[in-house]
Amino acid sequence: MNNFSPNMLKTYQNCPKKYYYKYIQSINIPQSSTPFEKGKKIHALANYYLQKVDISRIQTALSVTEKEVWDTLLKNTFFQKECLKSEFQLTCKIDDFWIGGRLDAVVHDFENYYILDYKTGATPQNPEYDYQTMIYLLCLDKYLEKYESLSFVYLNLKEQKNHIIKFNPEIKQQYEQKIIQTCKTVTSDNTFNCNRTDCRHCEYSKLCYIPTESPAQRLID
Ligand code: SF4
Repeated sequence: MNNFSPNMLKTYQNCPKKYYYKYIQSINIPQSSTPFEKGKKIHALANYYLQKVDISRIQTALSVTEKEVWDTLLKNTFFQKECLKSEFQLTCKIDDFWIGGRLDAVVHDFENYYILDYKTGATPQNPEYDYQTMIYLLCLDKYLEKYESLSFVYLNLKEQKNHIIKFNPEIKQQYEQKIIQTCKTVTSDNTFNCNRTDCRHCEYSKLCYIPTESPAQRLID
């Protein structure tokens, strides 16, 4: 049985065909890693820091921009709370489906818990209903069982803004329904058709025989 991660459900939502290539056929097409490098370093450093590893030498290897981002994270009030877990792999079962993923960190003050997600790029467009938000909150709700409050916090380190989503019984019900519905759609799909035409930046476009860019677009770029 599948264990659905936020990326799997997001991929399916964007293009069922891409989901088919990536998660059913296991075809992985390498992508340029440059935009992800800064994010990866900050995530690794945050994990060491929260696990109380001495990071003084690693910090000296940061570029000026990376150091600015790191300082922003250190000053963030949520990041300064007590850490429960860092780089925390969590799964749970909703209806017939296993869902889960790796949480950047879970922090708390007394019985108030916060899932932290560090963003060196953009925060999701609709963070309340992003699959990552829904899956992580549902998993931590099951894991903790008892708490006073539970929230998901996107720490946007570029814009120096926090986006906080509070969990409650009403939103829990909505999330469960949405996740069950999406998982049912994915597992019952046997065609994985997609009518998308804006495929210019898709790494699977060659498999779909869709040109990555038109001659006119090449001139614009
Ligand atoms: S090229 Fe378009 S249709 Fe094909 S997998 Fe990518 S997004 Fe989907």
